[in-house]
Amino acid sequence: MPDLIRLREFLPDGKCAALVTSEVSRRYLSGFPASAGAFVVTQSRFILAVDFRYYEAAQKAVQPPIEVVRCTRLIDDLNRIFLQENIESVYIEDESVTVAYCSELQTALIPQVLTEGLSAKLNEMRLIKSDEEVEKIITAQRITERAYTEVLNMLKPGVTERQIAVELEHLIKVYGGERVAFDLICITGENTSLPHGVPGDRVVKEGDFFTFDIGAVYDGYHSDMTRTVAVKSATDEMRMIYETVLQAHLKAARAITAGNTAAKVDIAARDHIDSCGYGAYFGHSTGHGVGLMIHEDPTVYRTNHTVLRDNMVITDEPGIYLPGRFGVRIEDMYLVKGEYAVDLAGIPKELTII
Ligand code: ZN
Ligand code: ZN
Repeated sequence: MPDLIRLREFLPDGKCAALVTSEVSRRYLSGFPASAGAFVVTQSRFILAVDFRYYEAAQKAVQPPIEVVRCTRLIDDLNRIFLQENIESVYIEDESVTVAYCSELQTALIPQVLTEGLSAKLNEMRLIKSDEEVEKIITAQRITERAYTEVLNMLKPGVTERQIAVELEHLIKVYGGERVAFDLICITGENTSLPHGVPGDRVVKEGDFFTFDIGAVYDGYHSDMTRTVAVKSATDEMRMIYETVLQAHLKAARAITAGNTAAKVDIAARDHIDSCGYGAYFGHSTGHGVGLMIHEDPTVYRTNHTVLRDNMVITDEPGIYLPGRFGVRIEDMYLVKGEYAVDLAGIPKELTII
């Protein structure tokens, strides 16, 4: 369970409350997944409000100090709670509440609606993963690795990108994934120069690179990994680009230490690729946080000076993309632990020729 006391400390006084409505934040705070509802924080109470569909399951799953309240019409039930607790102003999630919902809340809620700071506070809390959260991310990664290892057996000339993607998705579910973490990227040949290419009918040929950017969701938590493999053979140029990306990845990984900034991790990878003359072909950030969402804080980019702390999980995913020819990306998740980062992947990073 997250440190709910830290969220309570966000409230300036007993007349303020926090109203959490996004699916991700409700799940984060309560540990209970539901497509609708609200999580309310006051100085004295933590309340999960859910409707009839979720009430029984929530009562079984949710632990004190969180109370489960059954709601019929959410706004009315929230007003009742706010009146009981003498709440005069309520913070809402400024990054996820739509303009329309915000206006509805401003009209219908009795307390004054405040739109600054709550999302930033929740994002900051989610930066540091509990050991339980890390275990779920690792389980999602192991599911992905099992599916990946099996699907490599069918990666042969003649198979299409789409066939590989469909099989991977199937295997991720067979091995216990709730779902895939995002639309899987399974691309080959010249399509590998597209960092977010979509699997299509391109047939795998001898001498192609094949890029897998794949992940699973386990109990709400995501995993993220990219491997680029060569089919049957690789030219000297392909090997050289691969080696350049691998060295950039490893340099960034060595920069992932508690106390270092996200910017320094990005710069470690970017400087290496620049020094090899391929800076113009690495147009995205080096990584991102992973957790209940596939992309979360911190963005690992040279302009982000967030200091890395123990139990953050970030990706390291430099790449070089030569338009119309081929691209290489190598991505893994790392857990920040003091002087070094724990590599959460169990699949070798060296060039594999299938
Ligand atoms: Zn990825
Ligand atoms: Zn990623």
